[in-house]
Amino acid sequence: MSATLRFNVVSEAFKKHPVEVPVPSERPSEFYAKYVFNREKMRKYLPADVYRQMIDVMDGDATLDLQTADAVAEGMKRWAMSLGATHITHWFQPLTEGTAEKHDGFVEHDGKGGMMEEFTGKQLVQQEPDASSFPSGGIRSTFEARGYSAWDPASPVFVIGDTLMIPTVFIAYTGEALDYKAPLKKALHAVNRAATAVAQLFYPEVKKVISNLGWEQEYFLVDEGLYAARPDLLMTGRTLMGHDSAKNQQMDDHYFGSIPERVAAFMKDLEIQALELGIPCKTRHNEVAPNQFELAPIYEETNLAVDHNMLIMMLMKKVARKHGFRCLLHEKPFAGVNGSGKHNNWSLSTDTGVLLHSPGKTPLDNLRFITFIVETLMAVWKHNGLLKASIVSATNAHRLGANEAPPAIISSFLGKQLTEVLEHLEKESLPLGEDGEGTLATKHTMHLDIPQIPELLVDNTDRNRTSPFAFTGNRFEFRAVGSEANCASAMIALNAAVAEALMDFRTRVDALMADGTEKMKAILQVVREDVRTCKPIHFDGNGYSNDWKIEAAQRGLDTEASVPLVIDRYLDEQSVAMFAKTHVFTRTELEARNEIKWETYTKKIQIEARIFGDLCLNHIIPVATRYQSALIDNVHKTRQIFPANVAERLTANNVSLIQQIAEHSSFITEHVQKLIDHRRVANRIESEREKAIAYHDTVAPLIEQIRRHVDKLELIVDDELWPLPKYREILFVR
Ligand code: ADP
Ligand code: MG
Repeated sequence: MSATLRFNVVSEAFKKHPVEVPVPSERPSEFYAKYVFNREKMRKYLPADVYRQMIDVMDGDATLDLQTADAVAEGMKRWAMSLGATHITHWFQPLTEGTAEKHDGFVEHDGKGGMMEEFTGKQLVQQEPDASSFPSGGIRSTFEARGYSAWDPASPVFVIGDTLMIPTVFIAYTGEALDYKAPLKKALHAVNRAATAVAQLFYPEVKKVISNLGWEQEYFLVDEGLYAARPDLLMTGRTLMGHDSAKNQQMDDHYFGSIPERVAAFMKDLEIQALELGIPCKTRHNEVAPNQFELAPIYEETNLAVDHNMLIMMLMKKVARKHGFRCLLHEKPFAGVNGSGKHNNWSLSTDTGVLLHSPGKTPLDNLRFITFIVETLMAVWKHNGLLKASIVSATNAHRLGANEAPPAIISSFLGKQLTEVLEHLEKESLPLGEDGEGTLATKHTMHLDIPQIPELLVDNTDRNRTSPFAFTGNRFEFRAVGSEANCASAMIALNAAVAEALMDFRTRVDALMADGTEKMKAILQVVREDVRTCKPIHFDGNGYSNDWKIEAAQRGLDTEASVPLVIDRYLDEQSVAMFAKTHVFTRTELEARNEIKWETYTKKIQIEARIFGDLCLNHIIPVATRYQSALIDNVHKTRQIFPANVAERLTANNVSLIQQIAEHSSFITEHVQKLIDHRRVANRIESEREKAIAYHDTVAPLIEQIRRHVDKLELIVDDELWPLPKYREILFVR
């Protein structure tokens, strides 16, 4: 792009006005879930007996038979066609972040030479997408060449445009999961069973425990013209070069500022479309960095919340285009300003309406609260390395540990009050309580030695932003999740690990009870043990400090920061055992998935390195050279018209600039060659793991190193010549 073009793009961007957003005439409560085949629509479109069977299936009490599926498909088709749908797609979540679709028309031959609209139960329930283009870490080549997608009846189908979208799991014929949804459902099943067994110790009437997820999605919006003029943003989702803008986020004026008009129009449009798709959007606001924003819905059951997050990421990109923006979901699109994350607010609740991580009014409720808190901490402590592995990626690596986001060490913030309660509990010397043998009927008189937990705790919303896993009153907030990631990865690891901790807890309580210990005493005894065991995970201090890195290592927490090495945690014996015990992953699946993770890591860095090299050699060096020539020319001419002693003084500055440009340019050219050499060496490595390590150790750091010289040149070279939109333009034009 020529410099003139750059200026045109910038001025065009400034001239853009908000796009008119069509506002539905109904109220949100009326258009909410308009495009979702939910229970209400099922009641309307399905025969009564089919409807009842579907409800049982959705509640997890029955499986779908083909006959019911046929009847469901028929009703679904009628509903979808009433909204103008002509196609169906199985919508699934492959291991390449994002989602995948394969569209088929409703049409079939009618046997009389014409066509008819047809959609059968079999088409609804199962399809065979051409799976060969999705990563499988060798599972398919080793076991079975085909994979299939199967409807997840717990996720309602929905209509987007002319397409009926059917959320599905994606599995190999041999049964191994090739996606995120299948293992997520298994982890949720495991945590339901384990948590129900523990909840029943307190409330025998509990039949089911639900895992809840409320995600907060951060993102950047940049003008599409400026975006298109940055090959790095276009191809990698982040800027690989760019000097800090003189003003960025230091004034904190964006966070508290009003939402810019063009952005507000985008948000409104997005929210209407999201609500129509049944996504309960609630909050929106500016974030810390300029042009950074956040959207959060009301929390939902985890499987559904994950679908909705995948859907919203899709919608954000689509709606942004309509408003002349591009939506950046990359964790670190710009150096020097905050990156984006996706806080995962997580909790468990019962079918009887108890939030298990929320304190209650009676001592029994409070013992239940402490139990679920402590067993969650046990899971996080035991699997802290694995939880980190569940959120690392080539892109999230730029954000973690960069003094803006949770560090690359998983620990948990509990706050003052909960800390005091746990410390109190830990002291062996305290009596267990006189009438600890109380039954549930006497719960109000039961003395459990749990100090009354102040109501205040619920509002204990923590502002310690440095904690990756913070307790926030009635839930935990897993904040290390990347903005671009599928939340399922973190939710699989967390729910499965908590399931294991709860299974283990129940086993130990049962053993004590079998030996004659009264139930409440047994619970208290096990909780007490665990409070001590998981203590190293509890950290309320500053997670950004260097002291913490040292202390965390002494506490035995995982402090590894290299992504390819963190991925190893999935194959630790205790991870493999945990996933086997909870029936979430087999070792084969874990191995295959790790291959994909390493391969993906390598590819991302590889692409960045290529584009970065091209930009350096084709965009930056030629422009720097051109400007340098102009300076040289100026020096020569100055010397011609002034006496030597005067000319020397007058040209000193330009001579110095000429030299600086030469130094930076030669560093860049030399090291881009080195970058290519490192890549060549790494590409020859057979093992995906070793290759990823080579990319991490040799290629990635070199990009950052060279970048510093490019950014210096940006400050020196004539602005009129500079070929790429600058940070001050991309971040402030809206
Ligand atoms: P903030 O963390 O910025 O204070 P909110 O209080 O709005 O944000 O909550 C963020 C997310 O946490 C929302 O999606 C909200 O619905 C969700 N949330 C609130 N309570 C729970 C809970 N008990 N379990 C899971 N998610 C919850
Ligand atoms: Mg939050």
